[in-house]
Amino acid sequence: MSKGLIVQKYGGSSVANIERIRNVAKRISSYRRKGYDLVVVVSALGDTTDELVELAHQINPDPSPREMDMLMATGEQASSALLTMALHKLGVDAVALTGPQSGIYTDKDYTKAKIVKIIPKRIHEEIKAGNVVIVAGFQGLSPDGDIATLGRGGSDLTAVALAHALKADLCEIFTDVDGIYTADPRIVKDAKKLDVITYDEMLEMASLGSQVMQARSIEVGKKFSVPIVVRSSLNDRPGTLITEEVDGMEGAVVRGVSLDKSEAKVTIVGVPDRPGIAARIFKEISNSGISVDVIVQNVSSEGKTDISFTVAKVDLKEAIKILEAVVREIKAEKIVADEDICRVSIVGVGMRNHPGVAATMFDVLAKNKINIEMISTSEISISCIIREKDGKKAVNALHSAFGLGKKTKTK
Ligand code: ASP
Ligand code: MG
Repeated sequence: MSKGLIVQKYGGSSVANIERIRNVAKRISSYRRKGYDLVVVVSALGDTTDELVELAHQINPDPSPREMDMLMATGEQASSALLTMALHKLGVDAVALTGPQSGIYTDKDYTKAKIVKIIPKRIHEEIKAGNVVIVAGFQGLSPDGDIATLGRGGSDLTAVALAHALKADLCEIFTDVDGIYTADPRIVKDAKKLDVITYDEMLEMASLGSQVMQARSIEVGKKFSVPIVVRSSLNDRPGTLITEEVDGMEGAVVRGVSLDKSEAKVTIVGVPDRPGIAARIFKEISNSGISVDVIVQNVSSEGKTDISFTVAKVDLKEAIKILEAVVREIKAEKIVADEDICRVSIVGVGMRNHPGVAATMFDVLAKNKINIEMISTSEISISCIIREKDGKKAVNALHSAFGLGKKTKTK
């Protein structure tokens, strides 16, 4: 009798070389000995996907998305086959399947396809036959019968979606860190690993720059209440459980501080202050698929105002190109782009009921002589756009002001 079904996912760093692949195989084998059924999703070895993307762009700077997926999907096919061979060597029955063979169906949005359904018939058959099923992550079958990938980091999505489709008891995400921390341990020496975190907090952290898991995969986990554990493939520590809200979870109001350097600030100077102008500007940008974040409009003087907002640095060039035309049309003065900014954010579901948190955050930044250029809030986070050079200092100051370090007990 099976003790239950676990879906595991091993990231690129966990299968970066032969020794690590062997270690993963050993871990899988030990779960088998304990009596679990296993479906294991793997990413491509190490930096394979980056290398494939680089190769493609050297051949053609504007490669077709369909062929990009043909190319990128090979990385996961290789790792799934190799891991399966390592299991065979240990005497563990296992079979490697591609995304399409696993019954993962997607839409046609190549390079960032969405999963539309999973029909895990083959997976069930293989489990029944006594195999550990090793699934190539990050891919599925498009309506045209072609291979499609799920966006960068998409193996997390494969794992969480499969865990839901298979009604697995647990989804374990193995990576090269011990779990989710109160802040990036490379920036904050005193950062502490959290035992539990809610889906919402994790989502804020993921989209705010602490990218341990792909944000879309956490959305799916939340939607279907998939219990997820993030843990290291390099040791046996228990990791961080991502779950629904639990009463009095670890007490603290603020659970984490994150730093995101991926955005740039754009200011349109001297915008005529009349109805319809802001709509015009943001419509043009969103039509081109660029998402805009923190938006600030200054008080107007003499019928003119400045509008600032942030976009991803990778979208900056494109955004400016679009805005130049709009600026001429609406007779604004000019566009100023600023890449030397960062976003520092505090996150925690406990903030919902604690009105004083924002004031404390601003106070901490002020005491550290850090100027706040823009502010944005959600129900469970507050973000400030500040100078990039102040980022590290801000994260450390906030981390200690909210008592998040190892030295402070958070119950
Ligand atoms: N190999 C893919 C990537 O690097 C998918 C993944 O690792 O999750 O984005
Ligand atoms: Mg990843």
